[in-house]
Parts: sequence; C-alpha cells; structure tokens
Amino acid sequence: MARTYEVRTYGCQMNVHDSERLSGLLEDAGYLAAPDGQQADVVVFNTCAVRENADNKLYGNLGHLASVKREHPGMQIAVGGCMAQKDRSTVVERAPWVDVVFGTHNIGSLPVLLERARVQEEAQVEILESLEVFPSTLPTRRESPYAAWVSVSVGCNNTCTFCIVPSLRGKEKDRRPGEILAEIEALVAEGVSEVTLLGQNVNAYGVEFGDRQAFSKLLRACGAIEGLERVRFTSPHPAEFTDDVIEAMAETANVMPSLHMPLQSGSDRILRSMRRSYRREKYLGIIDRVRAAIPHAAITTDIIVGFPGETEDDFQATMEVVRQARFSSAFTFQYSPRPGTPAATMADQIAPDVVKDRYQRLVDLVNDLAWEENKTQVGRTVELMVAEGEGRKDGETRRMSGRAPDNRLVHFAATDARPGDMVTAEVTYAAPHHLVADRVVSVRRTRSGDAWEARQGRAEETRTVGLGLPTIGVPAPLPAAPACS
Ligand code: SF4
Repeated sequence: MARTYEVRTYGCQMNVHDSERLSGLLEDAGYLAAPDGQQADVVVFNTCAVRENADNKLYGNLGHLASVKREHPGMQIAVGGCMAQKDRSTVVERAPWVDVVFGTHNIGSLPVLLERARVQEEAQVEILESLEVFPSTLPTRRESPYAAWVSVSVGCNNTCTFCIVPSLRGKEKDRRPGEILAEIEALVAEGVSEVTLLGQNVNAYGVEFGDRQAFSKLLRACGAIEGLERVRFTSPHPAEFTDDVIEAMAETANVMPSLHMPLQSGSDRILRSMRRSYRREKYLGIIDRVRAAIPHAAITTDIIVGFPGETEDDFQATMEVVRQARFSSAFTFQYSPRPGTPAATMADQIAPDVVKDRYQRLVDLVNDLAWEENKTQVGRTVELMVAEGEGRKDGETRRMSGRAPDNRLVHFAATDARPGDMVTAEVTYAAPHHLVADRVVSVRRTRSGDAWEARQGRAEETRTVGLGLPTIGVPAPLPAAPACS
C-alpha cells in the first residue's frame, strides 16, 4: 500500500505555494494524500515564523503528535519552513520524535531525508544558508485546477525592523522572465485561467538582473498569453511601486484591478523606526495615481498597531491614512516582538491593553469604510470566477461564491456553474466583508471549469482504486492563507 502524507501549512502565500511543491514532491515519490479524517503515515509541518505565537503553535502541535506516533509505528514527522530555518536542530532537541527538519532553501530534499531517516532510524536535520536552485522546477500538486500561484522571486533585500523574513528566506533571487512565462503558458494549457505572481516584494522583481522595469514588462507579457483571463500579484512594496507598473496594470486587460499594498503605519516617525523606505505622502500619492488610472480598483493593506514607541498621535496618523485611502479591506495586526528582530529589543514597548484598544478602534474604522466601499458596488454587473466550496444557504436561498475582478468575495444565486466557470451577475446587496449578486445574467463555461470537473473525476478514481476504500465523495477544499507583510 502506498504511504500517505498530509502537509499542514502556516503563514503566507509563499508557504501555501511551497506546500504545493512539498505535496508534488511526495506524490512524485509515490506517496498519496491521506483522505480526510485518516491518520497520515507522514505529517509535514510547513511553518511560519512571523508571529510570536508561531513557536508555541508548532511545539504544541508536535507535542500532540508524540502520542499519535507511538500508536502508529512507522509514522514520520517532518518540520520545514521558516521556523525550521530559524530553529534548526533545536526542533529535534525540543521534540525528539521529529524525524526530519529541512529549511526554506532545500524543500526538494524532503523525500530523500524521509527515506534516510527511515533507513538509518535517526533524525535528519538539513538546513542550507542560501538558495542553490530556484524551486520552480520541483513537481507541484496545485491546490486548484483553475487558479495558480507562480513565483517570480524569493527572498527580500529590505530590512524592516519587525520582520524576520530576510534572515530566513535570504536575499532576493529573481527567476528569468522566459521561465516564468513558459510556466504560465503550461498552466493555461492545463486549464488554469488565473495566476497570482508571487514574491516577498513582487514589484521589486528584476532587481537581481538589473532591470527596474522587469515587473511591468512581465505584466504586459502576461497580457499576450491566450486563455489567461486573470493576473494578480502579491505582495508589492510601496517603495518599489513605480508609474510603469500602474500603467501596465491599467493598459493590460487581464491584469485585475486589485492591489494589496502593505502600509504598516501612517506615521512617518514610526515608518522610519520600522525602516520602511517610504513615507505617508508617497503612499497616498501611489493610491491616488492608481485610482486615477484604474478608478474601480480595490485596494487592500496590512497594518501593525502598537509598534514600539507608537504614541496616540502616531496612531491617529495611521487612522487618518486609512480614512483617506478607503481600503476595501485590511489585514490588521497587534504588534508582538519577534525574537531576533531589531524591533524586539527596542525601548518603549507598548502595553498590551493599549495595543488592544488601538487595534479595536482601527478594526472598527476599517470595517466601517470597507462596508461603505462595498455599498458603492450595488447595482454593478460583475463577472465572477466561481470558487470551489459548498457555497452557503441564506434562509431558503442557496448561493455559490466567486471572486470579482477586484477580488471582492461575492455570493450569488446558485446556478449549474462549476468552479472555474465565469458567472455574470448584478450586485444586489453589500455586507461588510462580501457582496451578494442575486441577479444572474449569464454563465460562461470555461476550460477551467472543465479542468475542475476532470480533477474531481480523477480524485474519485484515486480514492476508490489507490486506497481500496469504498466510495466516500469528493475531498474538501484547503483553508485560505493570511497575508505576509
Ligand atoms: S516586511 Fe516584507 S519587505 Fe519588510 S523585510 Fe519583511 S518581507 Fe521584506
């Protein structure tokens, strides 16, 4: 019987994409995804180190698995991702029942390390200091048959004082444009119609090979790919947001009018202390130019409250930028010191109750403005990419869900559309965090919908043949990942 695996993913979109590679590597090595509710033979943790309780979460989960492993002889546990890159052999010192620890620069080694640990009956710890090969050549088991993550770069050249990413993911490394476009064309041939370009600082793309306009050129090149309906990107850095990128967004039909642009703070004094290389005027200037070029663009952001030294005036400066920027939504974080970052040892750490109070005031403002912005969408007719999932029942009305071009979540009156198909509908109601579109105008069946249907068929076949189990229906979708600032 094939050994089964489960990959548990924490953190950002980079980790979600890395987990697709970890699944692809294991399936390439003959493992099968463990059915829901069944204990896997191999459990892989793809960890995040951005937030303080990341440590507690990981070691808590590992603690829980110790007894499970005792009941399942031959079971293996592997820990990868940013926490593994940071903690290294400490992981097996604190959890000696872990079999493999691998880092952010050598995810390709997982199958070999698992085998070596099994044969030698000894834990394997392998961490590289920098990336040797861009992981894009690794086999990948994608979460979705119609939407795909495509890495354009890894690592980061910035040194924000609250962030541990550069020390764990290394300096920025860029893929060659031709390689990226070839991957996208191959994905479109498989039925994918939406790609999200991924990078820690995606709009700094090209810095490694000295082309400051490489990102806008990449967006325009995506515009020429037949069958590619939607292009998104995350996460851009305001300091790198140049006019050529705004023009490329406005002039390339399949680049979606949605922009996630981390602000972090609206106070120039705090931005300086965060070592963020832009100030509020520049940030608001970018927002204005984006809105002038793309009037219906939806802009989202990341904001940290309670950064060391933050006064009530600094906080009010953040609130003022939020009022002016009118974000369609925001990831908001209460600052927590991250060991190993400069900010963790700064003076004037803010008292938790003060941070909590500011956080609540910020969330209330963001939600009020997001709702007002959503209300401006009522009456608009939008084309939605149907999302995977069971949809929802609101009273007697059954609704399905989809994403509008500006990435807003829209629930619409159920039709026979499949995930990946396109539904055109009129927005009839606005809620704080989603829209409702009960006037469906048309359904366009797409190659992505066909790809989804084909995958359902294959999953059912694998389930019944590979594991010799009776028919138990289709697999549940994976959870969405939070933003990485
Ligand atoms: S916050 Fe973003 S830009 Fe700043 S160092 Fe971390 S990954 Fe880089």
